[in-house]
Amino acid sequence: MRRKLAAGNWKMNGLDAALSELEGLPAAENCDILLCPPATLLAPMVTKSVALGGAIKVGGQDCHANATGAHTGDIAAEMLADAGAGYVILGHSERRADHGETDADVAAKSLAARRAGLIAVVCIGETEVQYKAGETLDVIRTQMHGSLPPGSSLANTVIAYEPVWAIGTGLVPTTEEIAQVHGFIRDELATQFGQGMANGTRILYGGSVKPGNAAEIFATADVDGALVGGASLKAADFGAIITAL
Ligand code: 13P
Repeated sequence: MRRKLAAGNWKMNGLDAALSELEGLPAAENCDILLCPPATLLAPMVTKSVALGGAIKVGGQDCHANATGAHTGDIAAEMLADAGAGYVILGHSERRADHGETDADVAAKSLAARRAGLIAVVCIGETEVQYKAGETLDVIRTQMHGSLPPGSSLANTVIAYEPVWAIGTGLVPTTEEIAQVHGFIRDELATQFGQGMANGTRILYGGSVKPGNAAEIFATADVDGALVGGASLKAADFGAIITAL
């Protein structure tokens, strides 16, 4: 049985005061809760989570492939782990667009995450142009082959399907479309890594998940949770999404 995961990606949002939002989140009874704040808030969020009982897991939003070195502005997976993180988001479409990250970069970062004992939340998803051209499944297959390194397993990897056109837009695919893509991802996991990984790996949906649509999305076949952007910043919204899981 796959345990559901409610993950929040705070992106480049949040000063110290935002940590008080954690106090308003419901207990994680039927799911795991993960929050990925900006790097400045990692260690304080871990401290806050521990003070609240430790149920909220903490993750980074990116890491470098190397463990140390002359890489100004970057952060190593080992540093995320050192700050108390257990997860790291990799290959988010904003990283791919803003920083030119390729599938090969994401695969190298996934290996770095594994080296540091972090679970990689690997993001994949088609652009609006690709969606309209009917290329979604081809894009997903290519990204999976390129971004998931050998040795990826259900213990070290979570997949997040995030259609780029659904991020921050209020647009959401139909539940039929989500079910089709998630089923396809599971089949591809079986082809690439075997049935065990396919059955056990959590596949999150991300892109304009809100309290109002969460229950419907979570009831969709092969959806094991969500990667939430904007609605993860406020306890009332993220709490409602957690409760809907
Ligand atoms: P929104 O929930 O704000 O659409 O963002 C989704 C996302 O990119 C999460 O990583």
